Amino acid sequence: MNDPRALPGEPLALDLVNTELAPDGTVVDLLATAESARAWAAAAGRVRLSVSDALAPARTLQTGEPAWQPAVLAAANLLDLLETAPDRVRPCANPDCMLWFFDTTRNGTRRWCSMAVCGNRMKARRHHDRVKARLPA
Ligand SMILES: [Zn+2]
Repeated sequence: MNDPRALPGEPLALDLVNTELAPDGTVVDLLATAESARAWAAAAGRVRLSVSDALAPARTLQTGEPAWQPAVLAAANLLDLLETAPDRVRPCANPDCMLWFFDTTRNGTRRWCSMAVCGNRMKARRHHDRVKARLPA
């Protein structure tokens, strides 16, 4: 099964924020159907919960309703991110993009959800604007 997530590798809370994306200008909701929501949850790894052991202690969160477990885990993850590095949770600098990311770069200067997609689009746009500005009217 292909990973449907917009930015695999981002923290769980941002995976949940990024379930709406517009890769070609049309908004896609990764949680629109039960089937797509299950595919996203399986890719995010949230449906496979394990009990911690002495070698790998882990926080266990439980809700009365199992359907709420993914949302509770995402909320807990977001609180962790906001407590440890709130300035590193950012929206993509491409104004046409709706994705968020957690900046793990050493100097904290990441601007794009993906350099290969939004970074290159914005570079091409700036180049186009510079060339256009030099042309006579
Ligand atoms: Zn982007």
